[in-house]
Amino acid sequence: MLSFQRIYDRRDGRSVSGEPTSQLTNAIKISALEKAHFVLFAPLCGKLPFQMTLELNLMPARRVYLDNSATTPVDPRVAAAMARAVVEVFGNASSVHGFGQQARAAIDRARREVAALIGARQNEIVFTSGGTEANNLAIRGLCEASTTHGRHIITSAIEHPSVAGVCVELEKRGWEVTRLPVYGNGIVRAEDLTEALRPDTVLITIMSANNEIGTVQPISAIGSLVREKRAAGQRNLWFHTDAVQAAGRLSLNVDELGCDLLTISGHKLYAPKGIGALYVRRGTRLHGQNVGGHQERERRAGTENVPGIVAFGEAAKLAREELEQRSLHDRGLRDRFEAAVRHRISDVVMNGDPDQRLGHLSNISFRFIEGEGLLINLDLEGVAVSTGSACSSGTLEPSPVIRALGLDDELARGSIRFSFGKDNTDADVDYAVEVLARAVERLRALSPLTLVSHGLHG
Ligand code: PLP
Repeated sequence: MLSFQRIYDRRDGRSVSGEPTSQLTNAIKISALEKAHFVLFAPLCGKLPFQMTLELNLMPARRVYLDNSATTPVDPRVAAAMARAVVEVFGNASSVHGFGQQARAAIDRARREVAALIGARQNEIVFTSGGTEANNLAIRGLCEASTTHGRHIITSAIEHPSVAGVCVELEKRGWEVTRLPVYGNGIVRAEDLTEALRPDTVLITIMSANNEIGTVQPISAIGSLVREKRAAGQRNLWFHTDAVQAAGRLSLNVDELGCDLLTISGHKLYAPKGIGALYVRRGTRLHGQNVGGHQERERRAGTENVPGIVAFGEAAKLAREELEQRSLHDRGLRDRFEAAVRHRISDVVMNGDPDQRLGHLSNISFRFIEGEGLLINLDLEGVAVSTGSACSSGTLEPSPVIRALGLDDELARGSIRFSFGKDNTDADVDYAVEVLARAVERLRALSPLTLVSHGLHG
């Protein structure tokens, strides 16, 4: 991403020295002029089916952040609480003296707020460094504590890498993993889960909402099934859900969901990066993964990140208080965006279930173009979005999530995620649509896929 950094350097008025050296060198060459001439070869990954020259201003007219599923900006109220904690609450929460106890009290207050966000009890919250660590702790911790009862895990085909990766790791250590399909709408079916359950299944780990397409999984139905199985005698069956994308966007209550473990992360709900939590229902056996200290009731050793925890607590409180207002706001923007896209741009496919999905997220495939080329074009005009595609061995690989939907390769590679947040406005949406419509038209005009589809290449 070095080239991008250099572009941003120019935007900020700092100098650009030397040529970009990353793989993107081939993709973007920047002249020294403020109104620069870009030679853009796209898509990337060394495969360059088309070449285009663009006249673009290095200082885009606007900068619009539509990547709130990747991370959210820190809320100023959260930043203020954190700044106060950095300066004033510096004691080690394990210390007996007043400074330490002040830190302990700040952590306890934050723990109450995080617990309240998901309807949990305070002592069921374990602070971690984020969602990835919480998912690792949940899955490894539970499985390691359950080896005598079975070695079978059920998960879905569209989990975040921090869940999917741990499952692969456990497979290498002799665990069996069943991955439930999600069909064309991106949602698992309860009947598939029922069929997959075995007497030696110890863990079901299925995300509450997907990070790429936003589909919301039937978590309460799964929770009910787990309860039924337990009541019928399968006492060592546990249910974890990764709610990193759902927390702060959907109303969550661990008892209604029926989960034993639930993951959340601060930076998806306007707190800074590097802080998250795992909800652990009382009575759930878990092997701590960080050892060497008594913190977090022996479940996560290490001196607590007091400013991060305080920030997370404040963000959780605001998320709970403003949940409805934020949801309405985000959904309004998303609907405005999708209506305008459908109106302005042809050959688009909206991915994921149209109803059972998060209200702030839109995943769209644009026929005849590659998502990555589109992303770069949008970025050059100040609009930040995401694509699940990744460069792999010189080609653009669609993400496993998009693949799991069964889309053809062209649609899969042309998918882009737009995710809205509380700081976005109608004007942001209108600007993004304007830029998007132009970029799609420009890229399609040059795309060999368009030419083929129109029969010009035979
Ligand atoms: N789970 C999901 C669904 C996510 O979207 C993410 C982050 O994108 C994570 C887990 C990892 O969270 P963190 O970035 O806090 O490690």
